[in-house]
Amino acid sequence: LNLQTILVGDSGVGKTSLLVQFDQGKFISESFTSTVGIDFRVRNDTSDLCEPSCYSLCIWDTAGQERFRSVTHAYYRDAQGNLCCLCSTSPRRAWLTEIFDYAQKDVVIMLLGNKSDMAAERVVKMEEGEKLAKEYGVPFMETSAKTGVNVELAFLAIAKELKHRA
Ligand code: GDP
Ligand code: MG
Repeated sequence: LNLQTILVGDSGVGKTSLLVQFDQGKFISESFTSTVGIDFRVRNDTSDLCEPSCYSLCIWDTAGQERFRSVTHAYYRDAQGNLCCLCSTSPRRAWLTEIFDYAQKDVVIMLLGNKSDMAAERVVKMEEGEKLAKEYGVPFMETSAKTGVNVELAFLAIAKELKHRA
């Protein structure tokens, strides 16, 4: 079973960090490299969701910049799952709108409010994330790629839902 997921959100919200945390269990704070175009990681799970091993979760990491937008759009079509990463600096509903515009109709969406470790400094508060999620009828989760809080949970929740629907 091949599950395709795509991570979207503004540049700098922590998409790549979330993916690295999920994939390698660590936070790479210093090596800030802007994702160019699109990148992906595959996680083959043997135990968490089913036995014997029967799914692989492929997560596409995208660049938030406008110039890569058309590339990203092409990937929406193939993704069954969509993790929308909420910007921590400005409230952007644009990403959710875009998902609904470009993704498959029955796509699984989850809104993440990342950088929960620095919640006090965040411009987008948790309540705003919750409100936005409610408005679009999608689940919301606060994550931290730095501490690892909810990262595994968020990705596996998507995988579980996708597997359930498959
Ligand atoms: P992307 O552009 O969405 O892929 O964002 P990055 O993963 O490259 O992260 C942008 C910056 O935010 C980097 O300096 C990261 O170290 C930092 N960052 C990412 N996630 C977190 C987090 O959960 N907490 C904190 N404090 N910093 C984070
Ligand atoms: Mg990135």
